[in-house]
Amino acid sequence: MPGLRVSARFRSEPIAMIVHPPSVADALPGDPVVRPGVRAVEGAWASAPTTPVAEPRTLAVSASLARELGLDPEAIAAAPDVFAGNRLAPGMRPVATNYGGHQFGHWAGQLGDGRAILLGEVEAPDGRRHELQLKGAGPTPFSRHADGRAVLRSSLREFVVSEAMHALGVPTTRALTLVATGETVVRDLLYSGDPRPEPGAVVCRGAPSFMRFGHFELPAARGDQDLLRRFVDHAVHAHFPQFAGPDAAADLFAEVARRTGVMAAHWMRVGFVHGVMNTDNMSLLGLTIDYGPFGWIEAFDPHWTPNTTDAQHRRYRFGAQPQVAHWNLSALASALAPLIGEDTSPLQAGMAAYVEAFQQAQARMGADKLGLEAWHEGDLGLLQDLYRWMQAASIDMTLFFRRLAALDPAQASPADVEGLGYDPVRFTREAPAFAAWLERYADRLAFDPQPPAARRARMDDANPLYVPRNWLLQQAIDAAEQGDLAELQALMAVLKRPYEEQPGASRFAALRPAWALDRPGCSALSCSS
Ligand code: AMP
Ligand code: MG
Repeated sequence: MPGLRVSARFRSEPIAMIVHPPSVADALPGDPVVRPGVRAVEGAWASAPTTPVAEPRTLAVSASLARELGLDPEAIAAAPDVFAGNRLAPGMRPVATNYGGHQFGHWAGQLGDGRAILLGEVEAPDGRRHELQLKGAGPTPFSRHADGRAVLRSSLREFVVSEAMHALGVPTTRALTLVATGETVVRDLLYSGDPRPEPGAVVCRGAPSFMRFGHFELPAARGDQDLLRRFVDHAVHAHFPQFAGPDAAADLFAEVARRTGVMAAHWMRVGFVHGVMNTDNMSLLGLTIDYGPFGWIEAFDPHWTPNTTDAQHRRYRFGAQPQVAHWNLSALASALAPLIGEDTSPLQAGMAAYVEAFQQAQARMGADKLGLEAWHEGDLGLLQDLYRWMQAASIDMTLFFRRLAALDPAQASPADVEGLGYDPVRFTREAPAFAAWLERYADRLAFDPQPPAARRARMDDANPLYVPRNWLLQQAIDAAEQGDLAELQALMAVLKRPYEEQPGASRFAALRPAWALDRPGCSALSCSS
């Protein structure tokens, strides 16, 4: 059939998608050097061809993101070559972007996209553009001593949690595909001197922009005011056109601050711990970005961090996240200062905008968590006292708020939440304190106009039942490493509707099992991904 041969040779791109080259590469100067190799990169980006892998195989696709982008999930699943970096679709132009950052409080100089490669921008049906970025598609000029690859366990975690956070209503970057490479990557899981080969994978992430605070900090640190200004102009032009004008830098900063405040409040609402809030991991759009050694609060503890690299100082512990975000914003403010002039009050106003946005979001979300129609003076104290009790009694944060919603506080007793604790001795010791708290809560609800069903619905819309606990992710990883994707699919399906109780899903809404306490990947995570 000669017709078939012709159509095969000239067949059109199988994924019907309109891709534009990355606008950051059009708008801003790149490195004059185009050869590969690790180096100090001039300008905002460098060309970074992807390195093909042996045997790309699609493990998962987010149908939800695909549809938002106007793409057919099946066509995406059928193109592992594109989403592993083996083949560029028309319009794609691979680049790695240049940024610096403060890591654990110290300026680290140039970091850049060491294992992320920006492919281009997909135009969604609503006209908005989303950057597509591969993580793990090979080395770039920023890869320093590393290989630019990613292991299946960290890629699966990033893929699942990106989409779970979206379903939770938390601002986040997204994930379109998870593709196995058919190659192994050598990693020392806990930096314990025990490197071993692990299966590799590539995630394709999506976001309107992957711009970070560090993109502004690096030109500022290099004294390159021209590039700094051009970065601001580009960010404003592409994402905040309403701020174009002489005050663009200050207006941009205040908006970033507000968005960061809302993001931090969401993290506290759902019990998310980012784990590595370095300024290179802070998004200019106020999105949760760069999922690495993250975790979810189980036994309530504001001092907890899943990141073993930070176990001693606990800089990025759960309870410190709002303050860390503030510190990170002050680093961004310092970077933008050369564009603001002598009078730095606009930057101070931006810092204040962060505090106000965080507090407002905290109040709104706090009211929802407790099922209150309005947030009154004293309610923050009521919530904080509850958290103190949960910490003392070692109570599972996620399961507790769902149970609280189902109780009539005027009738309830500590026995109603007994099964939600991790330590019976502490629970018994703290039971009277909870009884006293329930009385205060019942008194407060007496002044709340909502009928009980409305209170419960409000609480269940703000307090998720299902979150991607590390041990749930680890179970999906263990199975996927053996070639079994059923656990990954079951977890993703449940996490699509985290606020809705789903039949047969109780094992995804359970206390952390004892085996997970000292299993790497469940309680102890490193950046080694
Ligand atoms: P992270 O801790 O993931 O935020 O990464 C900090 C810096 O290290 C960034 O510049 C990353 O691109 C780089 N990096 C992390 N892992 C790798 C890797 N496997 N290969 C190359 N660069 C990496
Ligand atoms: Mg990072």
